[in-house]
Amino acid sequence: MSKYVIGVDIGTTSTKSVLFDLAGNAIEQYTIGYLLNAPVQGAAVQDPDEIFQAVLTTVKEVVCRGEIEQSDILCLSFSAAMHSLIVVDARGKPLTPSLTWADNRSAGYAEKLKQEYNGYEIYARTGTPIHPMSPLVKLMWLQEDESELWQKAAKFISIKEYVFWQLFQEYVVDYSIASATGLFNFHDLDWDEEALSIAGIKPSQLSKLVPTTQVFSSMQSKYAQVMGIDLDTPLVIGANDGVLSNLGLGAIAPGTVAITMGTSGAVRTTLNKPGIDTQGLLFCYALTENYWVIGGAVNNGGIVLRWLKDNLADVEINTAELLKQDPYDILTAIANTIPPGSEGLIFHPYLAGERSPLWDANARGSFFGLGLHHNKAHLIRAVLEGVIYNLSSVFQAVEGTRDIKSISAAGGFARSSLWCQMLSDICDREISVPESYESSCLGAAILGQYALGKIKDLSDFKHVAPSKVYKPIRANVAKYKQILPIYSRLLDSFKSEYQAIAKLQQDS
Ligand code: ADP
Repeated sequence: MSKYVIGVDIGTTSTKSVLFDLAGNAIEQYTIGYLLNAPVQGAAVQDPDEIFQAVLTTVKEVVCRGEIEQSDILCLSFSAAMHSLIVVDARGKPLTPSLTWADNRSAGYAEKLKQEYNGYEIYARTGTPIHPMSPLVKLMWLQEDESELWQKAAKFISIKEYVFWQLFQEYVVDYSIASATGLFNFHDLDWDEEALSIAGIKPSQLSKLVPTTQVFSSMQSKYAQVMGIDLDTPLVIGANDGVLSNLGLGAIAPGTVAITMGTSGAVRTTLNKPGIDTQGLLFCYALTENYWVIGGAVNNGGIVLRWLKDNLADVEINTAELLKQDPYDILTAIANTIPPGSEGLIFHPYLAGERSPLWDANARGSFFGLGLHHNKAHLIRAVLEGVIYNLSSVFQAVEGTRDIKSISAAGGFARSSLWCQMLSDICDREISVPESYESSCLGAAILGQYALGKIKDLSDFKHVAPSKVYKPIRANVAKYKQILPIYSRLLDSFKSEYQAIAKLQQDS
């Protein structure tokens, strides 16, 4: 009887493998990090072979450390970051590195797609917002600006397709990764003719589409050997990391929301059929044919607190070193000495431009309301609050698509009980924070069990990890309800100036 599933998450900063038992308890985990390179301005690229090696090594490590029999492994199941693009030649050799979601060299083409082509209609059929992250937009750019490369290109694939190509010598893509390319018509579960024509490619230049539950076996024997698994171990192709995070957090029932915030952040809920919002602000990606995840992603998550730590917190970093504590814990403890609302100080957190809810690469950060009574502690608290004000506006957009009953939260920010409490107070909702291991790896493992018939429906999986629950504190909710309209009015008036300040910077 098989006893274990390995969930593999091929992320942008690292690849993680987690060995789970069938109840979802994490037995072993192993992570290998890698760099995001920027050889030219605007690029954010990675070496596909380094990532493939990380997949092999992390699996090998958890199998070895878990001291398990090969025959006890039910399957390996895969999660991967969305929106990556690798151009390969006719022999499968990469002609480019993996262009990640963060690569924004195609920015001009996102505008072109919106203005000159049928941008909104394509978004409405594919669920991928029109943005430089989207492979469709990247293809428009490569076709125009990289004609030599374009001539040699045989296939356009993502990092997960590259890994499966290495293992099985077959080009396959699951509906979930495909649904984040901007090229996949979510009504037909097939490539979208108009999107492909704008991208300038033929369906034969893309991989074969398969459901996220598709099982592969008989991989190249040398790789089975490296990983220390049986040649016939089933490999479930799985889905993308965002939708699997919802599954891992137990947020797939109607009305459940998952909020994840690490470096960036996202708010997502699950529908039983594809859907979008009329303003074109939210994405919609496939988990399976019957589960679709709708939501919004923000750039300005934990990265904003990291910026504050790296630029304004030398003293706190030194204190943390002396006390052998995490600098983030010192910063949040200092913020906790200030009352909710930061005594009239409001921070707009758009240091990294913004995706949802603004879709404006030129957006900027700002403090408003500063007075002589404010000190550094106020600035820190205002930063934490500003990040959540922004996230809560994406939550409101998601809330507009259906009735929300519960929220689960995860990611680096959830290590701070102050930040979790703020989320609860600002959204005026109870928030539960499961103590689970990597939610995307767990999601992949649950999908793997479903693919192999161990559970009848994804919703049948019972999560074992205990959760910490944060309830809204009435006085704080009342305070934040007074501030949020001011935050929004300020944002409305700032919006027109973001472009102007960006232009000033470009010109100088
Ligand atoms: P990634 O998104 O890169 O996988 P994480 O999920 O670990 O990374 O999130 C990293 C972010 O989480 C940091 O930039 C920081 O803002 C936040 N963070 C990490 N630890 C803490 C903490 N103890 N308290 C508050 N925030 C934290």
